Amino acid sequence: MTAPSSATDPRRLEEARERVEALREQIRHHDYRYYVLQEPEVGDTQYDLLFRELRDLEAAHPELVSPDSPTQRVAGEAVEGFASVQHREPMLSLGNVFNAEELTAWYQRLVRNIERTDVRFVCEPKIDGLAISLIYEGGRFVQGATRGDGTRGEDITANLRTIRSIPLVLDAPASSLPRAFEVRGEIYLSKAEFARLNEERRAAGEQLYMNPRNTAAGSLRQLDPRITASRRLDLFVYQLGWVDGDRPVDSHSAAMAWLGSLGLPTNPLAQQFDDIDAVARFCEGWVARRDALEYDIDGVVTKVDDFAIQRQLGIVGRDPRWAIAWKFPAEQAVTQLREIAVSVGRTGVLTPFAALEPVFVGGATVSMATLHNAAHIADLDIRAGDDVIVQRAGDVIPQVVAPVLSRRAGRELAPFVMPSTCPECGSAVMHSDDEAAYYCRNRRCPAQLARQVEHFASRGAMDIEGLGEKMAYTLVDENLIDSLADLYVLASEKREQLFAIKGLGEKKLGALFANIEASKHQPLQRLLIGLSIRHVGSETARALAVHFGTMRALRDASLEELQAVADVGPVVAESVYDYLRDEENVALIDRLTALGLRMDDDVSARGGPLEGLSIVVTGSLDRWSRNEVETLIKGLGGKVTGAVSKSTAFVVAGPGGGSKRERAETLSIEILDEAAFVERLHEYGWRDEDSATT
Ligand code: NAD
Repeated sequence: MTAPSSATDPRRLEEARERVEALREQIRHHDYRYYVLQEPEVGDTQYDLLFRELRDLEAAHPELVSPDSPTQRVAGEAVEGFASVQHREPMLSLGNVFNAEELTAWYQRLVRNIERTDVRFVCEPKIDGLAISLIYEGGRFVQGATRGDGTRGEDITANLRTIRSIPLVLDAPASSLPRAFEVRGEIYLSKAEFARLNEERRAAGEQLYMNPRNTAAGSLRQLDPRITASRRLDLFVYQLGWVDGDRPVDSHSAAMAWLGSLGLPTNPLAQQFDDIDAVARFCEGWVARRDALEYDIDGVVTKVDDFAIQRQLGIVGRDPRWAIAWKFPAEQAVTQLREIAVSVGRTGVLTPFAALEPVFVGGATVSMATLHNAAHIADLDIRAGDDVIVQRAGDVIPQVVAPVLSRRAGRELAPFVMPSTCPECGSAVMHSDDEAAYYCRNRRCPAQLARQVEHFASRGAMDIEGLGEKMAYTLVDENLIDSLADLYVLASEKREQLFAIKGLGEKKLGALFANIEASKHQPLQRLLIGLSIRHVGSETARALAVHFGTMRALRDASLEELQAVADVGPVVAESVYDYLRDEENVALIDRLTALGLRMDDDVSARGGPLEGLSIVVTGSLDRWSRNEVETLIKGLGGKVTGAVSKSTAFVVAGPGGGSKRERAETLSIEILDEAAFVERLHEYGWRDEDSATT
């Protein structure tokens, strides 16, 4: 927004007045929803923009500033049911900046104000929780309150007593402490605890909580302290408030060290800086790493360390001049859900997703978000046309957290129903009551095939460079393939048609053909991943490849044998078993075999006692066949190699092992007979009943 160019033009002033009034009304409305109801209707960034616009307009037209403007006072008010507490010193808010330029401008105003540049700063994560004040008298916790409107808060002492990180008695003799003093801090809920609470609610069929901050606020304002106690809230203190008598310290950092020594939880990530550029780097560093913490932070707070300079700087409006919050892009925003669309995955699963009015959230513009499945949509009662809260944190796929029900009022929005026919191919959709998923069962569904090809060629599977989503769709849409096996005859049978497609040059196609050809050498594990067998991911594929070694052995396995494989549960075993009994799948594997794809593997299990060891087996053993002992070694993480070399860990030699035994002797490599090998396995914790083959 731009402020009117001339502050003196009466028409402009009138326009500004109207806008100021409108903004104040909107901000008050959002404050009420956020602080009192804990049901915001807009994201923090959207709110911050409204706030900024108001502040800028008031700066351009000082005659419009009034003491009750949201820019002049802290928002929030006491809810009924708690006694009200007058704060001895007001609990303020913080001014904010969003980048290094704004931070530098804040710094320059600050040094101009104090006429010196030797300022030390302390930077701390800005915990996304809610502010509280704690009063200690004679070393005992006597009263705790919310910030409220900054002047009056709610007495929530009983609830705060249930929080384990708040010491009820300080760790120092009362005689060594000021008679009474106040500390301020932020109550928060860890991400793990938030997830646990939501899991409980999901199981109970209750509406899920939106984010840890709201949940913490709601938990703290429970009239029944037992509910607060069950939520496992936490605290970081970030400020020494008023002190009865002499202040024991003269800087913020010393205050934090002192409070820490008394047993109050201070944030160990705080750092001191003498240089504003270093402050900016610290803040930027946390933008990228915020997700690494086990609690939410929404910025970094920078404070002048020296109390004397803090006092000199004082307050402006509702913010201290000596501190500033560098706010991160909000990870939640509100936008309109235009449509609930449905996509078809490579195994035919139908997945609903949200087509959104594009919105800036978590540092990027988001126009699509996951909705998981139909049951999830029904649980949260999300409807097309709703305003919804969208979340995007780090690399996590954006998701719809909840609808803003207050915005639905008066509008007729239909609940979502899963389509009865596949949106891609029109065939009937299947759904079994015991599973959340809906399926398109048409094997010729083009969307399924395209996604299968894309997955088959992906890095973790057959790793065919040049065969991404776009190419996969081209091949399917142009009818160049009907199955995964057709990829391997593209070069010989569809060359001309491919060259005719616009945008595909000779060089690109040549490389693609070569990469497809090279993928024939990929081991069984990767092929199993690439086949899109339901429930088979890389770990299951590895377990199967370790255990069976060849596609033939896997195909011959009974359901019981599959179930006996370590890390393969009954559902997965059944899925693999069914897949390998299906005529079309068998034909596909036969064809891939005939086309020359590798159908075996020498992969070993991860994390076993033999991990990293190369072992040679020679001669015959009583207890195991050659195949069985190899499977056993690989299952314990070892690698079985054919030739003895300096890197061989030991040789297992049964009667009849000739040249390999001799070579091991020459190289002074340990040789174990069968009994010694079994003993060694026992030392590694293996038990006879673990045997991979019995
Ligand atoms: P704020 O959250 O931006 O900053 C001040 C608060 O930061 C302090 O009160 C304290 O609680 C907290 N804090 C955390 N760590 C701290 C630390 N280390 N040192 C000092 N303080 C620390 O300001 P506010 O007045 O509490 O809230 C305003 C913000 O709340 C807005 O900018 C917006 O993001 C959000 N809000 C959103 C809506 C909405 O509708 N979405 C409505 C109102 C407010």
